[in-house]
Amino acid sequence: MIERVTSIDDLDIKGKSVLIRVDFNVPLDDKGNITDDTRIRSVLPTINYALDENAKIILASHLGRPTGKNDTGLSLAPVAKRLSRLLEKEVRLAPDCIGTEVRKMVSEMNPGDIVLLENLRFHRGEEKNDDGFGRKLAELADVYINDAFATAHRQHASTVAVTNYVNTVGAGFLMKKELTYFSRAFENPVRPLVAIIGGKKVSDKIEVLTILCEKADKLIIGGGMALTFFDALGYEVGKSFSEKTVLTKAKEVLLKARKKGIKLYLPVDFVVADRFSPSAETKVVPYQEIPKDWMALDIGPATVTLFSEAIQSAKTILWNGPMGVFEMDAFSRGTFAMVRNVADSYALTIVGGGDTDVAVHRAGEFAKMSYISTGGGAFLDLIKGNDLPGITALKRKIKKAAS
Ligand code: AMP
Repeated sequence: MIERVTSIDDLDIKGKSVLIRVDFNVPLDDKGNITDDTRIRSVLPTINYALDENAKIILASHLGRPTGKNDTGLSLAPVAKRLSRLLEKEVRLAPDCIGTEVRKMVSEMNPGDIVLLENLRFHRGEEKNDDGFGRKLAELADVYINDAFATAHRQHASTVAVTNYVNTVGAGFLMKKELTYFSRAFENPVRPLVAIIGGKKVSDKIEVLTILCEKADKLIIGGGMALTFFDALGYEVGKSFSEKTVLTKAKEVLLKARKKGIKLYLPVDFVVADRFSPSAETKVVPYQEIPKDWMALDIGPATVTLFSEAIQSAKTILWNGPMGVFEMDAFSRGTFAMVRNVADSYALTIVGGGDTDVAVHRAGEFAKMSYISTGGGAFLDLIKGNDLPGITALKRKIKKAAS
């Protein structure tokens, strides 16, 4: 059960130094340009609120996987530039995230100033949840705010250890919104609740399916996930993606769905290709007729019709994972058709991050979704009922401060 967490607007931050953990882990092209700034835009409400309160704003984030070393290709410089443009205000990039120079820079800040700390993962202590590193970050601020939902499932120094050393902590508006929508979609859903799960991280998501058998009224399985199920059922899947280690678990999910009386939908046809290439030869076949040397890379038209009928009566739709290899035009139709169907439904529609989010944006339908989560892993962890270490750390500190 997700309880309410103290948020930034419950705290007195007027004129104070506020360290805000954000997730600015944005995609960059090979020239270092930001190709999608959704994650930056998502935390603007928190930053703007802190600006209105005349706080000194210190932003902290990771970017990519620099393995504890300085890596100029993963500097947050492009983020500082983009954020500055979005806010129409100077955002100064610190030379590091801890150390004498950073402390001096922060001590010279005036109310309303914004400093973005350099990539937290340039230090090994971040991913190790090192107490000393957390303390050094904490020394920069009077108040700590966690607004990095997409990183909340990680036990890192800037999400956990830091909370041991700041007296006043809380969640940002993005974190609050993520938890509220999740709760509306999953804990108290207006029924019928239809869950759509696709993609290919099958071993990560199989437990999610088990839980959805308890919670959802209908379960739709597409993408590489569906092929693992057909493989488990003994059908020929040719060279299609299938995660062999979870075949038994896939069968257990089918049994559980039957036992619980929930309706489980698998594709009835596929777009198959003779190779994994945008220029491959393709054809549509029923699910029982995938040729031995071919691979299924998208759901077929009959499946789109079946799935769209299945979501028609939905009052809540939860979606994670594309229906096919939508990155290639030839195998994108199934995913884009589902995006349109979900967008046009009258249900509360919650899209669970990662690739599904990209597909929704590419189809131009993001404005029609009720909510698109910024966190893939964190979102799945919430469904699994796992505690998110970033949230647990906030709650622990809030409870301690109150006692
Ligand atoms: P996930 O991170 O689990 O949501 O997986 C997303 C990835 O699954 C995307 O990059 C898709 O290209 C891929 N995918 C979806 N359907 C298939 C499929 N039938 N075969 C191979 N990959 C797929």
